[in-house]
Amino acid sequence: MKCCYECGTPLVEKYLEKEGMVPYCPKCQQFRFPIFNTAVSMEVLSPDKTRILLIQQYGKKRNILVAGYVNRGESAEQAVAREVKEEIGLTVHDITFNESQFFEPSNTLMLNFSCVADSEDLSGVTDEVDHAEWYERSETPQAIAQNSLAQQFLLAFLNRKA
Ligand SMILES: [Zn+2]
Repeated sequence: MKCCYECGTPLVEKYLEKEGMVPYCPKCQQFRFPIFNTAVSMEVLSPDKTRILLIQQYGKKRNILVAGYVNRGESAEQAVAREVKEEIGLTVHDITFNESQFFEPSNTLMLNFSCVADSEDLSGVTDEVDHAEWYERSETPQAIAQNSLAQQFLLAFLNRKA
């Protein structure tokens, strides 16, 4: 962010107590912290935790994790539960944070969680999702889109729980 998002004035660096140097708009006289999106992605586990849900979306024949953007005003955990409910029609519990990575192409901080579904019933999957399928844990590293951020999150999750 090189210019103020309110007035367009070039930003300068200014010292802020406990923060260090922070971009500052001399015209607005406001600190301008970087703006980016926040999203969640989830390993949705079957009730017995032996399977993981992978989905296909946006007309692409590649498996990814259920994911979505965090709304202003909600917690990341609420976003996890809401997205799984909206997209898959399932209620989840045991929502656990795993790790985060910044995804430059969409200016998004991705927060990866795991959660456990109340059921394996996929009859409530919405139109937003082209295909949803449960995979055995051991199948998922090959089944998920290769060299994707989703795969990185999945492998880290599997290694953690192994
Ligand atoms: Zn300004």
